[in-house]
Amino acid sequence: MASSPLIATSLPQNQLTTATATARFRLPPPEKLAVLIDNSRSVDEVLQIHAAITRHNLLLHPRYPVLNLKLHRAYASHGKIRHSLALFHQTIDPDLFLFTAAINTASINGLKDQAFLLYVQLLSSEIVPNEFTFSSILKSCSTKSGKLIHTHVLKFGLGLDPYVATGLVDIYAKGGDVVSAQKVFDRMPERSLVSSTAMITCYSKQGNVEAARALFDRMCERDIVSWNVMIDGYSQHGFPSNALILFQKLLAEGKPKPDEITVVAALSACSQIGALETGRWIHVFVNSSRIRLNVKVCTALIDMYSKCGSLEEAVLVFNDTPRKDIVAWNAMITGYAMHGYSQDALRLFDEMQGITGLQPTDITFIGTLQACAHAGLVNEGIQIFESMGQEYGIKSKIEHYGCLVSLLGRAGQLKRAYEIIKNMNMEADSVLWSSVLGSCKLHGEFMLSKEIAEYLIGQNISNSGIYVLLSNIYASVGDYEGVAKVRNLMKEKGIVKEPGISTIEIENKVHEFRAGDREHLKSKEIYTMLRKISERIKSHGYVPNTNTVFQDLEETEKEQSLQVHSERLAIAYGLISTKSGSPLKIFKNLRVCSDCHTVTKLISKITGRKIVMRDRNRYHHFTDGSCSCGDFW
Ligand SMILES: [Zn+2]
Ligand SMILES: [Zn+2]
Repeated sequence: MASSPLIATSLPQNQLTTATATARFRLPPPEKLAVLIDNSRSVDEVLQIHAAITRHNLLLHPRYPVLNLKLHRAYASHGKIRHSLALFHQTIDPDLFLFTAAINTASINGLKDQAFLLYVQLLSSEIVPNEFTFSSILKSCSTKSGKLIHTHVLKFGLGLDPYVATGLVDIYAKGGDVVSAQKVFDRMPERSLVSSTAMITCYSKQGNVEAARALFDRMCERDIVSWNVMIDGYSQHGFPSNALILFQKLLAEGKPKPDEITVVAALSACSQIGALETGRWIHVFVNSSRIRLNVKVCTALIDMYSKCGSLEEAVLVFNDTPRKDIVAWNAMITGYAMHGYSQDALRLFDEMQGITGLQPTDITFIGTLQACAHAGLVNEGIQIFESMGQEYGIKSKIEHYGCLVSLLGRAGQLKRAYEIIKNMNMEADSVLWSSVLGSCKLHGEFMLSKEIAEYLIGQNISNSGIYVLLSNIYASVGDYEGVAKVRNLMKEKGIVKEPGISTIEIENKVHEFRAGDREHLKSKEIYTMLRKISERIKSHGYVPNTNTVFQDLEETEKEQSLQVHSERLAIAYGLISTKSGSPLKIFKNLRVCSDCHTVTKLISKITGRKIVMRDRNRYHHFTDGSCSCGDFW
């Protein structure tokens, strides 16, 4: 930045203009100058006034310290931070107001070290800080330095000041120190909107959405920031339905008006539960409101459409997205990959770098590697994985290894996958092990899966999914001793099988089903439908694959327990509540089992329906008896 010569040079004491020049230019009185500075519309205007003041030797005039302060603020408000701070450093005896203004300027512009330096200078000058000084320096604090400043606040008797307390709550809340935040908040004689919102953020971050909601409901006034924090809190902490209900409440109340952040949070909630109709409605709402369709909103729409199973609409939004950033590209690449459109994902990966010159991030690589894994592109996948570190300098994370392992697993290179996991420089998580064990099962690699199992048990790595898979592997080769061993281990360690939950959205309402569920109002019709399906698919030569049932957990009749996996209930409900021929979209929290996969393929054939199912791993598009995953998932 080219610094202004007016500031860079020392005070022009000896450059006073000639008497004639001064006579031609009459400087307005200081009060008028102060108003002019406040009303300045550009840096040029401020520079001109600054020049005039300097020429008349008024800048550091002890009678007019206000001009100095006003100039300092004007530069800062026009984004000329260096001008602003240079002016401060030229001042011989800055007073409390100038110190506070400088600390504030440094703080809000991210110059934390400078802010602290100024604060220390202020204390050394034996000036007593006031509430504005503290609320300014607090903006530069981490939780640790915030604690130090907190002691000063108490020492100077400003603990109950609403500005200072709000700053403190904010710092503790951001640092996740809910106890300290709560303490300061509880002692506040008057709770500001900002401090209540900070406290709601803090509760949400801890996953305590009940406390957040209770406080939200108690607030007498709420602005859009507090609504956003609450809606986002629900959406990010496993309560997407509550997020959508609250969003609807906001719309019903009519004010404040939702903004970009509100719709991004609501769209994220839609993608989590597959609420495509609601998501579409929000899209229409955005178009008809004053909310800008900026890159963040577009990215949320792309993500929502692709996660809700409508890749076509995701592509339409992507093509219309203005000034796409890396997040938008990532959303589309991941969308293509999830749906098994691997070539399109890889095409976009090249296009992105070629056209925009954007550098891929670790998320981009997860998308592209997933694309390779879903299409079985072993060589391409390995090449991309290696290029990540070598060409782009990005460290591989567990998710990248996950894609690589699933890629090798699909290709049957299980030993290689196992070796990679064992030699990783980080600990493998349950997702990674599940992936290898899943592949072992698919390729009938009993010995290797047993070796892995023993390794896992030896390392004390436990997770319900792995145990279930392991038990299924034993069952598939008729090793019931192995099944019993796993069962005992699970009991010993208190591991409970995660319940399978499937959802389907019918007429804007999301219906949830659990395995063996009889809670639904139309339960009777659902089970009748399931029986009908069962008879029809048997006539198509279907034989239940009872090996996949986790026999020892569900000691009911094997075939019956297969029939009531949650996705089948959701499909049956979809069949009885929608027009014949219309597509069904199902969401499942766990991986679909191979028997349900076979049955869904047959249902798509006999009913002529397109069925899109999102399981924990990927999308399955079932049409006319086959699935887009090519039976690998
Ligand atoms: Zn199943
Ligand atoms: Zn499939």
